[in-house]
Amino acid sequence: MNENAAWTADREALKEALPPLTKHEALVESARCLMCYDAPCTHACPTHIDIPKFIKKINSANLLGSARTILESNLLGATCSRVCPVQELCEGACVLGAEHKPIAIGRLQRYAMDHVYSRGVDVFLTIKPSGKKVAVVGGGPAGLSCAGELAKKGHQVTLFEKRNLAGGLSTFGIIGLREPVPISLSEVAMIERLGVRIETHREIGKDLTMAELQSKFEAIFLALGLGATPNLGIPGEEHILDGLVYIEQSKMNGDAMKVGKNVVVIGAGNTAIDCATIAKRLGAEHVTMIYRRTASEMTAYPHEYDFIKKEGVRFEFLSQPIRVQVKNGRVDGVECVHMALGHKDASGRPAPMPVEGSHFVIPADQVVKAIGQEKPSLAARLNLKTQKGYIAVDEILQTSLPGVYAGGDCIRAFGSASTVMAVQDGKLAARAIHERLVGHG
Ligand SMILES: Cc1cc2nc3c(=O)[nH]c(=O)nc-3n(C[C@H](O)[C@H](O)[C@H](O)COP(=O)(O)OP(=O)(O)OC[C@H]3O[C@@H](n4cnc5c(N)ncnc54)[C@H](O)[C@@H]3O)c2cc1C
Ligand code: SF4
Repeated sequence: MNENAAWTADREALKEALPPLTKHEALVESARCLMCYDAPCTHACPTHIDIPKFIKKINSANLLGSARTILESNLLGATCSRVCPVQELCEGACVLGAEHKPIAIGRLQRYAMDHVYSRGVDVFLTIKPSGKKVAVVGGGPAGLSCAGELAKKGHQVTLFEKRNLAGGLSTFGIIGLREPVPISLSEVAMIERLGVRIETHREIGKDLTMAELQSKFEAIFLALGLGATPNLGIPGEEHILDGLVYIEQSKMNGDAMKVGKNVVVIGAGNTAIDCATIAKRLGAEHVTMIYRRTASEMTAYPHEYDFIKKEGVRFEFLSQPIRVQVKNGRVDGVECVHMALGHKDASGRPAPMPVEGSHFVIPADQVVKAIGQEKPSLAARLNLKTQKGYIAVDEILQTSLPGVYAGGDCIRAFGSASTVMAVQDGKLAARAIHERLVGHG
């Protein structure tokens, strides 16, 4: 059973940062768009939304039509409008950006999407059932996108999600300042209304085997995401909180969440920045981020780095934690060693080397690690071919098992993972699966 209804919005601790555009602001902003032919913003959007078209419809007060244009290319348009790194994507390509401010594409997209969700309007009509059955494993952006696209073609889709709620990292992992839980769940509900059956608490590899799926369904899409935060392998590790769990608590149970006075966050990617933001916003006096390289090698987006500096978070660059210091059973500090950068390593970045005799301690009563996620372990257990630990797929996103497709973070061996890329994978896999089932696009 899907437990979406059980979630209550009043537990939201960190409210959405950007206010919605007013009608006047949306009209003024949409009027600035030059409606470029062969628009660079549309090319820069991984789902290739026809951006000038949806903006023009906002300007002519056709908000339903605008939302339809967005959803035709991207079923998770409400999430993407909030979480996409627009500076790097659509807005980064806007021709107005060279001399003026780029069009606020993300916020206009949100304006159109919020219009339909707040009114409970459904944009797509259901179509004649095809009689074909498809299983989708994982209810994050990739799985929801694939499931919804297949349902739009009339296929009978069952989505298996191991957790109590679908939405993946949009529900549990993306900080509430960017995406509140109800937004993600309203998209899950829309995918269900398209005809997708969502079964929660159903873990493939535990509650159901792949062989069972293969016997019951004509095609399978794996959208497993990645695993937990890996271990650092340092003494006192058991006192370190997992960054993903930290963010989840802030979204699901923010009022009851315990935040330290002196918080140390290990890592310097976007997830680490989110953890530091939560600590700061929920009352920590000092928040320090530790990273073993320098600001130039950080994986966080530059705008996120600028943001967190303004929040008052301190950085200890060229520092590596080597032990969590514990006194009377309580965390008391993080012992670190200074690092120097050497030759490039396998990641193409300069390898950090410990500087002898450079130990120092950062006082802390709470330590959080945000150092990436483990590779999808199920891939090896299912005997799927892998690439750098991720599920290997061909150009139509088919895995080494015929009829089994995969997309989203679990295949992202190259490039940075993002929601909009996962949505695009789901869409492309749905096209390939549809082709396989009915023989034409
Ligand atoms: C903290 C954090 C913040 C982020 N912020 C942003 C952001 O601001 N903007 C952005 O674009 N991207 C962001 N990302 C990245 C983005 O969230 C991911 O790229 C995106 O969610 C990937 O979608 P997915 O469907 O592949 O995987 P996920 O969202 O991870 O979903 C996978 C789903 O599969 C389920 N599952 C796994 N194994 C099984 C199984 N065996 N059986 C059944 N179900 C299973 C999981 O429970 C989960 O629901 C962030 C990531 C993190 C970790
Ligand atoms: S989906 Fe993301 S990248 Fe594409 S137009 Fe919308 S906000 Fe921009």
